[in-house]
Amino acid sequence: MPNHENKSVKPENYDYDAIVIGSGPGGEGAAMKLAKGGLRVAVVEKYSDIGGGCTHWGTIPSKSLRHSVSQLIELKNNTLFARHYQVKESFTFADALQHSEQVISKQVAMRSSFYERNNCDLHFGEAAFIDEHTLVIKNKEGSLEQISAKDIIIATGSRPYHPPDIDFKSNNIYDSDSILSLDYQPKNIVIYGAGVVGCEYASIFRGLGVKTDLINTQDRLLSFLDAEMSDALSYHFRNSGIILRHNEAYEKVTSIENSVVLEFKSGKKMKADCLLFANGRTGNTDRLNLNAVGLKADQRGQLEINQHYQTQVKNIYAIGDVIGYPSLASAAYDQGRIAAHVILTREGQKKLIKDIPTGIYTIPEISSVGKTEQMLTEQKIPYEVGRAQFKDLARSQILGCEVGSLKILFHRESKEILGIHCFGERAAEIIHIGQAIMEQKGKANTIEYFVNTTFNYPTMAEAYRVAALNGLNRLF
Ligand code: FAD
Repeated sequence: MPNHENKSVKPENYDYDAIVIGSGPGGEGAAMKLAKGGLRVAVVEKYSDIGGGCTHWGTIPSKSLRHSVSQLIELKNNTLFARHYQVKESFTFADALQHSEQVISKQVAMRSSFYERNNCDLHFGEAAFIDEHTLVIKNKEGSLEQISAKDIIIATGSRPYHPPDIDFKSNNIYDSDSILSLDYQPKNIVIYGAGVVGCEYASIFRGLGVKTDLINTQDRLLSFLDAEMSDALSYHFRNSGIILRHNEAYEKVTSIENSVVLEFKSGKKMKADCLLFANGRTGNTDRLNLNAVGLKADQRGQLEINQHYQTQVKNIYAIGDVIGYPSLASAAYDQGRIAAHVILTREGQKKLIKDIPTGIYTIPEISSVGKTEQMLTEQKIPYEVGRAQFKDLARSQILGCEVGSLKILFHRESKEILGIHCFGERAAEIIHIGQAIMEQKGKANTIEYFVNTTFNYPTMAEAYRVAALNGLNRLF
């Protein structure tokens, strides 16, 4: 696609004030803010619908799948209904996917209306640079269109990493995108890579009754988490029947007819109906013709930026997964808005919040914000711990969701909240109560808030009061 003739547009003749490449959360956040700021904005999207990897292959389908599976588990285990209602004999991955498809189409319809309402022009096709102000767009039919703007934001996201020695064309080797086309119910699956995506899919497949082996290349699950949360996840995974293998690396992957065989450097061998390879991601930069503007991505396809999300070319910005950490939809959206703010005001005071919360939609769910016990110990910060077990909460007992806990870490002297770690149903929602207090300035961010306020009863939020009392009682 590069090598398109450059018509070199004069600034007064730019087609737009800003062009955003990619319509995921990063691109949408940027485009909406720019359009609301009164600029003429275009968004280029190479897929046939807007929404990005987030809507079509990542966050939305995986969370919808997870919800269907956790409902299935709940129904099977609910003593009240299990006797009276029967779940379809073999509820499959394909059945669970139906719910995802409905959510995706609702999301696409809603998000499309944002672009329409805000007069953002949508161009469908693949964009590549001609120069720092001009893009060429190749649409599905192969025709080329050239558009120009003063500023350009790259929000092209990332894709699953494919090691060259694994044949992803085999009909039983999948990545986290292609797994959504799985149209048969495997009896067993190997998931290679125990990061967030691997762990979430392990929960989904195990919940559907598939024998699941989860291969971790590291020595513990999700090592960025507080060790207690990571240990709890390992325990519940093992308890649900997931076979966990740590510190493994594959030597060879062979697809044979209806199965796939993995040989490991440790000498182990594994055979399964299919493999989900979920180990690493690559930024979508290779088809942008970055050479034309003098930019170069690193070996993971990611772009380097400054604190204003500017690349080394001042009018070209990059946001979202294409710049790497934290690679979350939530952060991508905010990064888009911050980059747009810089373009609108030529100021760069806005920053992402320091403590970005983590939501991990495994079964059970995990969420945390702030520091872990390991960090505080290493930094020699004198902290105390307040805990609440979900099994002791009236709301948990009513819901029948007794697995889980909330842990608040706070400074022994100032009582400032330093970290919150939650494990169990709705953890990703529960965490935001604590986050809101933690973010308060001055003395308003102490654990005492939770004992000096009145909570609805019975609620999961009450865990904060229980944990705060527990923690404060430990002080002497
Ligand atoms: P994307 O959403 O990937 O969008 C990029 C868009 O750019 C795509 O539509 C692509 O087609 C388009 N594009 C690429 N190249 C071009 C080009 N040359 N021209 C035109 N268009 C182009 N995050 C969370 O916060 N919570 C979660 O629970 C969560 N779960 C996840 C589960 C899975 C299985 C995966 C894979 C990811 C998950 N994520 C989650 C991460 C989240 O999906 C990403 O961080 C987010 O999508 C990044 O947004 P983005 O805007 O940078 O890119």
